[in-house]
Amino acid sequence: MKSGYFGVFGGKYIPEILHETFVQLIAAYEEARKDPTFWDEYLAVMENYSGRPTPLTFAGRLTELFGGRKVYIKREDLNQTGAHKANNVMGQGLLVKRMGKKRVIAETGAGQHGMATATMAARMGLECTIYMGAKDVERQRPNVFWMQQLGATVIPVTSGSQTLKDAINEALRDWVGSMDTTHYLLGTACGAHPFPEMVAWFQSIIGIEARRQILQQEGRLPDRIFACVGGGSNALGIFHAFLEDNGVELVGVEAGGRGLTGHEHASRIASQKGTVGVAHGYKTFFLQDEDGQMRETHSVAAGLDYVGVSPILSHLHTTGRVRFEAALDHEVVSALKLLTSREGIIPALESSHAFAQAFKEIPQMPKDSISMINLSGRGDKDIFTIAEALEDQPWRDFIRQKAIQYFGKGVTP
Ligand SMILES: *Cc1c(COP(=O)(O)O)cnc(C)c1O
Repeated sequence: MKSGYFGVFGGKYIPEILHETFVQLIAAYEEARKDPTFWDEYLAVMENYSGRPTPLTFAGRLTELFGGRKVYIKREDLNQTGAHKANNVMGQGLLVKRMGKKRVIAETGAGQHGMATATMAARMGLECTIYMGAKDVERQRPNVFWMQQLGATVIPVTSGSQTLKDAINEALRDWVGSMDTTHYLLGTACGAHPFPEMVAWFQSIIGIEARRQILQQEGRLPDRIFACVGGGSNALGIFHAFLEDNGVELVGVEAGGRGLTGHEHASRIASQKGTVGVAHGYKTFFLQDEDGQMRETHSVAAGLDYVGVSPILSHLHTTGRVRFEAALDHEVVSALKLLTSREGIIPALESSHAFAQAFKEIPQMPKDSISMINLSGRGDKDIFTIAEALEDQPWRDFIRQKAIQYFGKGVTP
């Protein structure tokens, strides 16, 4: 197979001017992949800085609720900055050092990837610039504050719709002018080759650990694994170690938003509304209109709100290895409440998609089944969104008021 392709998906559709930079990046990545000392160095950083290996937690009270059907949770929420994003940024950071570059740039919507990148840059002594739509800057004051404290320059982008896609354009413009010294740190398993493969490689640490842990704790593999899918990096991370185990069902859960009938969702595969196209440097299923214009997407979880999906997942969908489902906003909030009150774990709204789908399916599974759910991140960041969804009026008003007082009107939906 042509390198950088997964079936018909993937590839490297980039402007000519970036060609040399990609050649250099691919060479550095392939060399690092062949060098076992690189992976050892990566493991050491993840152990000493990000607390890996993360636990595989047996969810006893959920298991009881489901009549003995066992539930295990892989705890990516316990990473540095509270999500699996640390796995990717630290890996790429090490690669940047290896290439001798001094600066990283990234674009961020909700701010989580910007935060993760800024922490990595501070730790590794790299200069860091984060592009963010001006509207997102208003909505995400707390993240902007921390990125600045970490030493990053946050540039609000005022062109276009002033959101993520405009930030992507500005970041690319920067890169074209600075590529000799600068690495563009992509946040998920999307974009032009080698990004999908490279990000999935760094994230594969999740599944490598989870496989070892379930064998230790149960002496057998799980029957089903659930993970939420935005760009697809946490899902690929946990799925990868189980791809060859045909007895293990892999379920990717997209953002069903307010329902799949209209366009207020971000489900490219489960909705069957995504069509194959080329954008953002690669070929995959995109949510686009008849003219190939990208649609506005919606999800209660900012991290899942993206028009494309990893080409690797598109391929695994076509081969039938991964089954795709979508969870609706309100199902996700209920799942969050159940996990919080029953296990003492506060999940991110993104991760709650995986739980919502798992909670639907587990009661239908055999009594002696084992399910594993990837908890991609923790939910503290979602306090304002969740407060809005709560029926508890006094708390809702209080939190809304505080949010506006501290961070301005834009912070609540
Ligand atoms: C960013 C994010 C996601 C979505 O990204 P993937 O690449 O699909 O994993 C999911 N969960 C959390 C907690 C995130 O921060």
